[in-house]
Amino acid sequence: MNEAAPNIVAGFDVERARRDFPALAQEVNGAPLVYLDNAATTQKPQCVIDALSQYYARDNSNVHRGAHALSDRATVAFEDARKKVQAFINAKSSSEILWTRGTTESINLVASSYARSVLTAGDKVLVSAMEHHSNIVPWQMVAQTCGAEVIAIPVSADGELDMQAYENLLDERVKIVAVGHVSNALGTVNPVEKVISLAHAAGAKVLIDGAQGVPHFAVDVQALDCDFYAFSGHKMYGPTGIGVLYGKADILNAMPPYQGGGEMIKTVSFAGTTYNELPYKFEAGTPNIGGAIGLAAAVDYLSGFDRSAVAAYESDLLAYTHQRAANFEGLQRVGCARQIAGAFSFLLAGAHPSDIGMLLDQQGVAVRTGDHCAQPIMKQFGIPGTARASFALYNTRDDVDRFFAALEKAKTFLM
Ligand code: PLP
Repeated sequence: MNEAAPNIVAGFDVERARRDFPALAQEVNGAPLVYLDNAATTQKPQCVIDALSQYYARDNSNVHRGAHALSDRATVAFEDARKKVQAFINAKSSSEILWTRGTTESINLVASSYARSVLTAGDKVLVSAMEHHSNIVPWQMVAQTCGAEVIAIPVSADGELDMQAYENLLDERVKIVAVGHVSNALGTVNPVEKVISLAHAAGAKVLIDGAQGVPHFAVDVQALDCDFYAFSGHKMYGPTGIGVLYGKADILNAMPPYQGGGEMIKTVSFAGTTYNELPYKFEAGTPNIGGAIGLAAAVDYLSGFDRSAVAAYESDLLAYTHQRAANFEGLQRVGCARQIAGAFSFLLAGAHPSDIGMLLDQQGVAVRTGDHCAQPIMKQFGIPGTARASFALYNTRDDVDRFFAALEKAKTFLM
């Protein structure tokens, strides 16, 4: 195998990138690690690890209003991180960047604050049938409290959004459309530009779940014209426990606060409390300062590459995986959309996905198995789950070859 093995593709040197990730240079169960669980969380480059450790070793302090040098340093680094994220997704203002714990909390914030304040009985929230549970359940929780409905946009057997059915569903009762940029379960890249423009024409606001989008390609929230965009630091080479909600300033300004506490207020009295300005109105309590600084290091790291070269490299790797899968007896791909990024979901005839995962792990190959927090689409496909190999910029054709070799060996135990 590996005939054409392009490790340097159009300006991206994967071998060089691999050296930035210390976790990749280890053996697992006696074999060099092949890490293919990146849709769950990516490994971290040394610069992110260093940024976290330097913050805690030198600058650790609470942010804002501190009367000392360490607090000043922490505050500057924390707010610089926000500006880096603003530039990274091309938001108009850094006050449109809210720190959260991750995609899940970002969506819960919009559901609890925005949706709760606009939805009334009979209103509708549209989500796609392939969404992650975190882009379904928060809407259901709010809808239940106000008599609104959460409706699934149908998805085809190939794993593509049915855009005609979507258009048919859009009427004046649809107040919110929430769709993933890229499906974590199937890898489908959704036509979000079209989703957004159609929703806007129907008078609805749009949230894009970008958890699997930002790690794989450059995102421009102004060009997309989405109202909200949510993502997690840990899926884009940053730390866990930190994420982002982008929202258009006029919408965020009109929204009630999400949580109450310190930092989100201007004045507090028993006669009545007034709220802080953006973004602090939505950031009650001590934030994840180290996490934000670590995420900024991940943004710097990613921005140091030609992102379209990285995207071309990753898509070549996925095409190579599909090519090898086509010749692998008994393997069935789950999700065959025309545009795919990051994830390769599959089944092996006669084998339970969790057995595949275990047998691959014994050979040093890390994948994920199960429903991938996307039970509705698994149910539609009539399967309990899949095995999923998911890619990051540091994966190689050699990883793909080792994955298929391990799968071949696993097959001998499974069939
Ligand atoms: N949305 C998608 C598409 C995801 O893949 C994930 C995590 O796998 C999430 C949301 C939730 O992300 P987090 O657990 O970081 O909040």
